[in-house]
Amino acid sequence: MSAVTFKNVIKKYGDVQVIHGVNLEIEKGEFCVFVGPSGCGKSTLLRMVAGLEETTAGTINIGDRDVTKMDPSARGVAMVFQTYALYPHMTVKDNMGFGLKMNGYPKAEIEKKVGEATRILKLEPYLKRKPAALSGGQRQRVAIGRAIVRGPEVFLFDEPLSNLDAELRVEMRVEITRLHKEIGATMIYVTHDQVEAMTLADKIVVLKDGHIEQVGKPLELYRDPDNKFVAGFIGSPAMNFLSATCEGKTVSVPALQENVNMQMDLPPNGTKVTLGIRPEHIKIDPLGDAFDIDLTEALGGVSYAYLVSSTGEKIIVEERGDERSEIGESVGIKIDPSRALLFDETSGNRIR
Ligand code: ADP
Ligand code: MG
Repeated sequence: MSAVTFKNVIKKYGDVQVIHGVNLEIEKGEFCVFVGPSGCGKSTLLRMVAGLEETTAGTINIGDRDVTKMDPSARGVAMVFQTYALYPHMTVKDNMGFGLKMNGYPKAEIEKKVGEATRILKLEPYLKRKPAALSGGQRQRVAIGRAIVRGPEVFLFDEPLSNLDAELRVEMRVEITRLHKEIGATMIYVTHDQVEAMTLADKIVVLKDGHIEQVGKPLELYRDPDNKFVAGFIGSPAMNFLSATCEGKTVSVPALQENVNMQMDLPPNGTKVTLGIRPEHIKIDPLGDAFDIDLTEALGGVSYAYLVSSTGEKIIVEERGDERSEIGESVGIKIDPSRALLFDETSGNRIR
């Protein structure tokens, strides 16, 4: 049985529909990430699981319980928010234990549960402090601790790292992965950051405009996207897209001044398509001159060369950091045809 099941879930705010019939199963113990651009409905979906938003139509199950109309406190979920939502006048320890106290748990049991969360999150040195005396990362750990003590069936995270600086975000990402390994609970995690999604998830759900675009393991989405949106959203820098036209088993790509052999059956000759190729699947050919290098970015281990073709299309190429090209050079490129993907020009759907 799945840990969380969405069946034809719809959400309307007044007349405006923002979630358009979501069907999804999340397995027990799975770390599931909802990712997509701002406004695509990630928080709305999560808040419907928590019971903080009403579900307009469809059902949400947690285990075998239909929780669609259940009170939030009865659902067996605990939510961690971007804004921490800690009580400023309480110590770390009291913040973590407060919910249990309000629910009438005996003191000894509260001590035990808070002690366990303290150990898991390494919060021992901070137990007597108030939130104002903690860093952002420490506050977020307390907020997670407050979720852990409740022993929920499902943890819900809504962009919990977005308020942290870049270095701390990486650190907390590792912490959250460790936490998931240690407690093994089902977790649903919302983020707009595809790097967070790739590094944390067992399963990624890519959302756009209230629809699921694709569900899969991180590397499945990276290597085998169902459409141009997923191909462009997952991966940084993004996949390159070039206009192309079908010709037999090849596509003619004006930007590349060549025909790329796709080794598969293609739509009829003359069909307009988009060729997708990732920056790491292209090599610079110093002997060519079809592209001007507009910009380079050296990150150390790798560099990115930003090229412009004679057709005006832009293309990004990944190079080794120690053999990088220079701005202003004219170069050719060679793509690895076995890594090229095709998309329908109009629908954006993958042609397989
Ligand atoms: P995300 O978390 O992916 O950024 P949200 O789930 O917050 O997106 O929002 C999805 C859509 O629902 C957006 O278009 C947003 O404007 C709309 N929305 C969210 N909350 C409300 C609300 N209380 N009233 C009306 N529209 C809302
Ligand atoms: Mg949101």
